[in-house]
Amino acid sequence: MDEKIEQLKQEAAEVIRKHAATLTELNDIRVRYLGKKGEITNLLRSLGQLSQEDRPRVGQIVNTARVQLEALIAQKNAELKARELADRLSSEEIDITLPGRMQPVGHLHPLTLTQNRIKNIFMDMGFTVEEGPEIERDYFNFEALNLPKDHPARDMQDSFYITDEILMRTQTSPVQARTMQAHEPNAPIRMIAPGRVYRRDDYDATHSPMFTQVEGLVIDRGISLADLKGTLELFLHKIFNPDVGVRFRPSFFPFTEPSAEVDISCVMCHGKGCRVCKGTGWLEILGAGMVHPHVLEMSGYDPHQVSGFAFGLGVERIAMLSYGIDDLRLFYDNDLRFLRQF
Ligand SMILES: [Zn+2]
Repeated sequence: MDEKIEQLKQEAAEVIRKHAATLTELNDIRVRYLGKKGEITNLLRSLGQLSQEDRPRVGQIVNTARVQLEALIAQKNAELKARELADRLSSEEIDITLPGRMQPVGHLHPLTLTQNRIKNIFMDMGFTVEEGPEIERDYFNFEALNLPKDHPARDMQDSFYITDEILMRTQTSPVQARTMQAHEPNAPIRMIAPGRVYRRDDYDATHSPMFTQVEGLVIDRGISLADLKGTLELFLHKIFNPDVGVRFRPSFFPFTEPSAEVDISCVMCHGKGCRVCKGTGWLEILGAGMVHPHVLEMSGYDPHQVSGFAFGLGVERIAMLSYGIDDLRLFYDNDLRFLRQF
């Protein structure tokens, strides 16, 4: 009996030392020797078959063997746990000296920046900002603006038609008609409408079939050409500089009467004459005029009670002059070397 116990103890110790590579395996080994049905446990149970005088002594030996094995298992358990922890630490190691991956941060497009500057100047003067659809009805794009179907001025704005009655808007003016019709007749309006417009046009350094406009409309009792002139001069002095020269030339638009082209003194050569201003010293910057009585009437306003002025400008043109950009296409090419400069 004594020998059998010793042998079993040696065997278990050997197995623990050499064959327990993981905590699971170690637990299996513990169950095999010390579990409820384990081999050492069985030995303890069989003590009953021994004689009275042998029982305490053999019992003592078995218990000692059990305690020794338990100690061995505890030691191995600690060893394995330490090794697993070390493995995990080395596999999950983070090199905090490595630079992090930078998330590229974008910024606003130069056209959006310019549009925001324009908006802010007009909002400071109490204008509201109105929006409308880019796919527009012929009625709002042309007819409500005094451009009936056979009007020759339609040719200046050849468009992308979706059906005979629906087109990509050629100007942001339809937002003005929409805003007027949404108001009570003769209610005062002071608004700008910024947005993209579409015209069938070439794509070269100064033309694009899509570009950005800001149009404005002021309607109230007693609005005169002096209000138009004062408002636009103030705007141009703020968007360029307070010293820029402003001149009004008579012109024609179907929706205003009288109409004017507004020029500024060339921001490149300060009026001396250069390539940008084609030697004239002046740059055409926007169109404006007093709202045509027909336009007021068509949107339910009474031209005998109220009057107003309207204006329109190209955002690209102002951005090109502000930043000194000579090719319109740069705005739409999405070349980061260009865009990063703003
Ligand atoms: Zn010039």
